[in-house]
Amino acid sequence: MKSVIVRAFLVAVASSIASILVAFAAVSAAGKNLDGLALILCIVCPLFIAWPATAYTFWQNDKLKSAHRELSRTHAQLAAAHRRLADKARHDDMTGMLNRESFFATLDRSRRKSDRGALLIIDADHFKSINDRFGHLVGDEALLLIVEALRGGVRSGDVLGRIGGEEFGAFLVGADENEAMRIAERMRQEVEQIRFHPDGDRTIPLTVSIGGTICGEGTTVSDLMRSADRRLYNAKNRGRNLVVFERDMPEAA
Ligand code: GH3
Ligand code: MG
Ligand code: MG
Repeated sequence: MKSVIVRAFLVAVASSIASILVAFAAVSAAGKNLDGLALILCIVCPLFIAWPATAYTFWQNDKLKSAHRELSRTHAQLAAAHRRLADKARHDDMTGMLNRESFFATLDRSRRKSDRGALLIIDADHFKSINDRFGHLVGDEALLLIVEALRGGVRSGDVLGRIGGEEFGAFLVGADENEAMRIAERMRQEVEQIRFHPDGDRTIPLTVSIGGTICGEGTTVSDLMRSADRRLYNAKNRGRNLVVFERDMPEAA
């Protein structure tokens, strides 16, 4: 407010000076002299008119600027909240992995960019029995341990998602069959090595079965899913805690 008064006063003083100069020029042009009363009016009128009018204008202007700043701040906060919400909508709350929709959308985008890569479908073995024996909360703990182990098995840049309750997808970007099998086997072993003892010293085994398939030219996401799923099913039938790939089951292509 103080700065508004000072700035308005400076404008009023400038108006008074301009008023004197204009009056002086006009009176001189008419061949007359500026008398004392006219001079006082030239000084006082602009002061009384320009000062409040300018102060009001400056005050409104300052208010507008501050409202604009506030609006920009709110806009930035809204944009950040929107980014956080969009990010939350893409991820599974419990594991922090991509959720099913985002995983497949990412897989689809990745497929459009390149024909290389492999899809793994990973399913926790006999997970229902963990829930049945120890309860759902302990089951959740076991699931999180599995998630951590799976994360430890993939390379940075690979895409992991939770595509069902105890079922996960991994897209191994650019991997050929040998590399994909090596990574899938590493993931299986990471889970197998978990030391899970929810009821004391006894270790309860946690394992996963993995079905894997290599991306071919023109294969769609549904083709890949179908192919990996069949191999996962095969891994389950062959006793679980196993990786099954193209070369283990070539007829399933
Ligand atoms: P399989 O080896 O054939 O896959 O046997 P499974 O018991 O793992 O398979 P099934 O489909 O019969 O059961 C899956 C179980 O996983 C049942 C379900 O309650 C449990 N499950 C799924 N999501 C969660 C979860 O978020 N937390 C817990 N605790 N359990 C879950
Ligand atoms: Mg299962
Ligand atoms: Mg399952």
